[in-house]
Amino acid sequence: ANPIRIGVVGYGNLGRGVEAAVALNPDLQITGIYTRRDPAQLKPAHAQTPVYRLDDLDAHHGQVDVLILCGGSKDDLPVQTPALAAKFNVIDSFDTHARIPEHFAAVDAAAQGGKTTALISAGWDPGMFSINRIMGEALLPQGATYTFWGKGLSQGHSDAIRRVPGVAQGVQYTIPVQAAVDAVRSGSCPTLSTREKHERHCYVVLAEGAEAEVVRHTIVTMPHYFDEYDTTVNFISAEEFAREHSTMPHGGFVIRSGRTSAGTNQVVEYRLQLDSNPEFTASVLVAYARAVHRMAQMGLHGAKTVFDVAPGWISAKSPAQLRQEAL
Ligand code: NDP
Repeated sequence: ANPIRIGVVGYGNLGRGVEAAVALNPDLQITGIYTRRDPAQLKPAHAQTPVYRLDDLDAHHGQVDVLILCGGSKDDLPVQTPALAAKFNVIDSFDTHARIPEHFAAVDAAAQGGKTTALISAGWDPGMFSINRIMGEALLPQGATYTFWGKGLSQGHSDAIRRVPGVAQGVQYTIPVQAAVDAVRSGSCPTLSTREKHERHCYVVLAEGAEAEVVRHTIVTMPHYFDEYDTTVNFISAEEFAREHSTMPHGGFVIRSGRTSAGTNQVVEYRLQLDSNPEFTASVLVAYARAVHRMAQMGLHGAKTVFDVAPGWISAKSPAQLRQEAL
């Protein structure tokens, strides 16, 4: 069979991750990377991958089976996903949880109009974690669901500390509190406050002349970002920062703890431990792009989420092969 033709829209961390992930899937092929910047300035990891202007995409209609949208959730995807879903089958990783219903509605209108398939909010959270949350709740209706994040680099919190006067460089890691994780795993269904579930660890390179205690106080008292958490601020050298804090690890776990009869605890856990958040997110997008292609062929048009995708559709293997090997 011919490979599924993938167009990549946007070439940041996620776009680079998609390029790496597609290379691991022989049934998929990147036919082009599309960017708002000057294509000549981009250096794809695989030199033979063509880079085009985003404006050229319309002319390539019919040469692309699925577009993987790699723009940011804040400003890019709310505009790009509906606009492109009007003409192409698309998938995005939109992760602003509170705005998913409105994003879905906008994308659905475009995809219904264009008779395309548009899967939104794939990735790990939302995405794989969401699937595990609904499975836990459906299988164990009496119980509680817990999501822990980390150890992970939070882009939003890192941006927030970099805006503090006196900070030259900074990153923030979200860390689950071990005592809380242990309590949940024991099946006791504890009620946990925000502060009891996660800690925030910051690594900061001070600007010249800045006072460490002033910077620390500004960070730990910052409303919304840090004031509800136990936050530690570690001051380090620029050399240590470059050596130890240049990758994007993340992960976490979803735990469902329920009772099926008095005194009978059932605990289900799904865990991710990721050296690279964007490379894993991209790996999810690529597998689900395969499902988008199949759903489009089945005539399942409109906006979709991971909840609408049968697990077999994300696999490169045939249903018969899966029944034999994986059941
Ligand atoms: P980036 O900031 O790296 O890239 C976003 C866009 O910005 C790119 O598509 C690119 O568009 C543009 N861009 C990238 N680098 C540059 C640059 N040097 N100069 C100018 N423009 C640039 O974001 P990420 O790839 O890290 O993340 C994208 C989104 O993925 C996040 O906003 C997040 O919402 C989502 N995400 C979702 C997850 C999930 O589990 N659902 C998990 C992780 C992330 P262009 O090429 O057109 O210029």
